Amino acid sequence: MPSEATYIGRFAPSPSGPLHFGSLVAALASFLDARAQGGRWLLRMEDLDPAREPPQAAASILRSLEAFGLHWDGEVLYQSTRLEAYRDALKQLRALGLIYTCDCSRQDVQAMGGVYDGRCRARTEAVVHGALRVKVADETITFNDLIQGPQAQQLLHECGDFVVLRKDGLFAYQLAVVVDDAFQGISHVVRGVDLLDSTARQIYLQRCLGETTPQYAHIPVAVNADGQKLSKQHFARAIDDADPVPQLLQSLQFLGQAPAPELREASTEELLHWAIGHWDIQAVPKLANIRHDCDPAITSG
Ligand code: GLU
Repeated sequence: MPSEATYIGRFAPSPSGPLHFGSLVAALASFLDARAQGGRWLLRMEDLDPAREPPQAAASILRSLEAFGLHWDGEVLYQSTRLEAYRDALKQLRALGLIYTCDCSRQDVQAMGGVYDGRCRARTEAVVHGALRVKVADETITFNDLIQGPQAQQLLHECGDFVVLRKDGLFAYQLAVVVDDAFQGISHVVRGVDLLDSTARQIYLQRCLGETTPQYAHIPVAVNADGQKLSKQHFARAIDDADPVPQLLQSLQFLGQAPAPELREASTEELLHWAIGHWDIQAVPKLANIRHDCDPAITSG
């Protein structure tokens, strides 16, 4: 079992709206995995896209985490304060000859079958208004996910060179997440399975930047009756800060844990204490998604 010094986990929400059931489950899973192993649990606000961030969303997420007893260690890290570090990482990648400018549109990439074919790699004329892409190697990245098992992705053929600085000048999630997981010394990343596909790109960037690779564990994501991921984009209902226990119980069931019915009468603290003591990552369903009907039963499928 890792000691406190070696386990550092995190929850890294994008403040595009209040916490909803899906993000509560991700927060809870990463919290329980860290606390069950005597680890630290850090909070990082991924606030790099102001146009998609309602002004009160970050504060509302912090209030909800407190209300649910999910107390983080240390100061919250805001990605909006980290632009210098992302610039330095870009510089490092550029020095390795891995960066080039590309003005292909989303439609262009779709026409390539969704995998960017690297056509701007060798362009000689200056591309002025473009995104920056990182060249990927013709190699297969493998890793062992603690929940989803062994994974492999051939980056060049399954993903292609990917964007690290967007056309609109914003740093891409893939770059920022790698720089900050390294900066915060994250040893374990527990997050939604919708990000499983990003992991090979992140491992590739870690290698290019000389950073270590954390242990990954991807939990199922909650979907609505139409099979859409519960998200702010799909107007998932915000969680209710006034009544944490039933929602924590639902989240634990969603994560395959088996809280006894009597825990309905427990306080938030007592319930979390039980959940830390009984956390079993092996019991988390190895499914891509689980349907979550907000009221009130949970059906797997
Ligand atoms: N900010 C991302 C999200 O809210 C999560 C990033 C991560 O956990 O790596 O979906």
